[in-house]
Amino acid sequence: MKTLTKQYAKKGIWLTTTERPHYDQNEVLIKIHKTAICGTDIHIFNWDDWAQKTIPIGMSVGHEFVGTIAAIGSAVTGLSIGDRVSGEGHITCGQCRNCRAGKRHLCNSSQGVGVNRPGAFAEYLSIPEANVFKLPEHISDDVAAILDPLGNATHTALTFDLTGEDVLITGAGPIGSMAAAIAKHIGARNIVVSDINDFRLELAQKLGATRVVNVQRESLTDVMTELKLTEGFSVGLEMSGNGSAFVSMLQHMAHGGNIALLGIPEQHTQIDWHQVIFKGLTIKGIYGRKIYDTWYKMTAMLQSGLNIGPIITHHFTLEEYQKGFDAMLSGQSGKVIIDWQM
Ligand code: NAD
Ligand code: ZN
Repeated sequence: MKTLTKQYAKKGIWLTTTERPHYDQNEVLIKIHKTAICGTDIHIFNWDDWAQKTIPIGMSVGHEFVGTIAAIGSAVTGLSIGDRVSGEGHITCGQCRNCRAGKRHLCNSSQGVGVNRPGAFAEYLSIPEANVFKLPEHISDDVAAILDPLGNATHTALTFDLTGEDVLITGAGPIGSMAAAIAKHIGARNIVVSDINDFRLELAQKLGATRVVNVQRESLTDVMTELKLTEGFSVGLEMSGNGSAFVSMLQHMAHGGNIALLGIPEQHTQIDWHQVIFKGLTIKGIYGRKIYDTWYKMTAMLQSGLNIGPIITHHFTLEEYQKGFDAMLSGQSGKVIIDWQM
């Protein structure tokens, strides 16, 4: 079968062929229809320090997908051949305290599809039955292919109560922009999104931001004055992974504010702890998606009118995959979909 693989220890991802993956008795084999490119895949493409430490050469990558079940292991009971599915890319151990308590996103030894085991950028993917999410009919294939990052946005946006609140989202990447859509859907008042990239700020505006701020040209303090937010933002969603964005968020939070931290900053980013202590801020780290609470919430919100359609800016065929990576690398994209149906 065809697969996109980290074939060499240098910048790039290569179209190769390999055996169809084996599936165990508790696993299913999924025929992939569409995939989407994640920031993680860009780290792997660029072969940065994290990728060099983490990704074995020869690994097929990717973890955002939609497909149909082509074969099932002998112990699989809840799924049938032909089911249209996506899936949770964190394969959890099932044995640790958190897994046993139903908090699988906090598993202490989870394995990543397309990171630690063969990925979804392939004609076929095998994952455990417990990781498969059967798709409701109302979800299109395009949207189904990006449920993984929508899940990150949903998990983060629903961590604190946003209804009627003034929300600051730092980072208008795909996840920050989708978080703006969710904030709008659930009734936040001001949804201010910051970035340094105008293309992305436009996306955030299309999705639901009530005010976008290019922090290279405008100051958040001025925007707060304009919006009469004299006390600051009550909720912050950090989705840039940029240390200075987080530092600035802390400065613009109201006393008693809540921050959900999804963006992954440099490991030793410095912040002004006085902002946290004297304002009595709550900061919560967010990892992955709640399995499966987040999946149920986001698919239900999609059914009740949440529209994230505009976040998909590019479609390519498998043969054009390099153009897909180029679009992501350019910063002039939202989500990029690769079509595997040949
Ligand atoms: P992305 O890189 O596409 O988007 C980040 C955005 O932040 C970009 O548009 C960039 O221009 C913007 N940015 C850079 N500097 C900024 C600044 N000073 N102020 C405001 N914005 C700034 O990333 P994404 O795919 O949307 O993901 C968002 C973040 O979440 C990334 O840091 C990613 O690594 C992280 N992430 C975390 C998890 C998790 O489980 N915790 C999962 C997925 C992604
Ligand atoms: Zn576990």
